[in-house]
Amino acid sequence: MDEYEFAKEKYEKVFELLEEHHRWFSEALTLIASENVPSEAVKEAIITDFMSRYAEGWPGDRVYAGCKYIDQVELTAIELGKKLFEAEHVDVRPIAGVTANLSVYTAFTEPGDTIVSLAIPNGGHITYGKKELGGTAGAVRGLNVENFPFDPEEMNIDVDKTKTMIEKLKSAGKKPKMVVFGGSLFLFPHPIKDLAPYLKSEGIFIMYDGAHVLGLIAGGEFQQPLKEGADVMTGSTHKTLPGPQGGVIASFEIYAEKLKNAVFPSNVSNHHLHHVAGKAIAFAEMLAFGKQYAKDVIRNAQKLAEALAEKGFKVLGEKHGYTKSHQVVIDVWDFGGGGVVEKELEEANIIVNRNLIPGDIKSGRHFKNPGGIRMGVQEITRLGMGPSEMEEIAELLYRVIVKKEDKAEIKKRIKELKTQFPKVKYAFESKRDAYEYIKIRLK
Ligand SMILES: *Cc1c(COP(=O)(O)O)cnc(C)c1O
Repeated sequence: MDEYEFAKEKYEKVFELLEEHHRWFSEALTLIASENVPSEAVKEAIITDFMSRYAEGWPGDRVYAGCKYIDQVELTAIELGKKLFEAEHVDVRPIAGVTANLSVYTAFTEPGDTIVSLAIPNGGHITYGKKELGGTAGAVRGLNVENFPFDPEEMNIDVDKTKTMIEKLKSAGKKPKMVVFGGSLFLFPHPIKDLAPYLKSEGIFIMYDGAHVLGLIAGGEFQQPLKEGADVMTGSTHKTLPGPQGGVIASFEIYAEKLKNAVFPSNVSNHHLHHVAGKAIAFAEMLAFGKQYAKDVIRNAQKLAEALAEKGFKVLGEKHGYTKSHQVVIDVWDFGGGGVVEKELEEANIIVNRNLIPGDIKSGRHFKNPGGIRMGVQEITRLGMGPSEMEEIAELLYRVIVKKEDKAEIKKRIKELKTQFPKVKYAFESKRDAYEYIKIRLK
């Protein structure tokens, strides 16, 4: 085979795989808590010429020419973001949630400083992980990471024990420079309000990582970190906030210059301009439809959690009604563990992810097969699914995990269910199917 033929074959193969993926996801129950399905408007914005342009710097103060329209789009994204997050300063340039977090570390910490954040089995994200774990805070910024005391019954940070721990760190000469609220396993609002007066009196900077819950915050249905005492909020723009992949920072004017410089030139050179356009569109959709969307997401999560509990599943967060976010977390250790169950569900076209849960590390469990399964209902809510579908989904999970029923039957039922909810809701326009494969090449 000559090189041309080899290349052409691979070229065709990639398109085939992409189409297959679209078909699969149109027939699958997509329950990954960190994902979403963007509107057709967001998709249109991100396939524009912006995808291949350069615009380093801030609108009006670029390193490149040709930014006349790029600047206006970015300023519009910032304007919408400020309204949506009720923030004085918004930066849409971070190309990922990781980049947003690293930019905040760059602005407000020095290598060797101590920060306090959640441990990973308690919901922490690898961006605030220790050096030994390859965490961004430890391995990239050189921070010393201490973990919040966590109460598994409450599924939340223990306020009193946190104060005691910080006092101890002070005595040991390791007073934290920053605390990081937020996480990836995130059922209930974190106690910023309870800790902010103490942290502020100690001069400790308060960061809130809203990657997962950003769409719920934007909809006004989760805690409002910047009003509760956080100095800065970071987030991903593609989890509960249904935009393109990317990050965002929201904060106060007093921190704006430091934050801007930490993003560019420290952590991005050129940001992804097509995704800035996509963020602007997603922010506009969230301003118009976000309140109802966030309400529906949380209602659905609570309904799914209750239905799973009724089927006998160990649903985390029972003490407080299982969840106040988009997430539902179940302990599946009795069924072989999260790794085993994740695979079984995937074979039935139910896409979830395994997750470490509190107590896993102490019990010697590993990320490959942890105790938990984490689910999010944001994507299926956007398709218009409601409480009765949540009940059926609980039943389907039960049939796969507990009853070990024939997976072909389950797949068939899911395909039927998905056919009833083909389009994205909570958007200005929705003519195309949510998982439609959009072909640009003309035949
Ligand atoms: C997903 C996530 C991030 C990282 O976001 P990316 O956009 O994937 O880089 C940061 N923090 C938390 C808590 C997350 O869940």
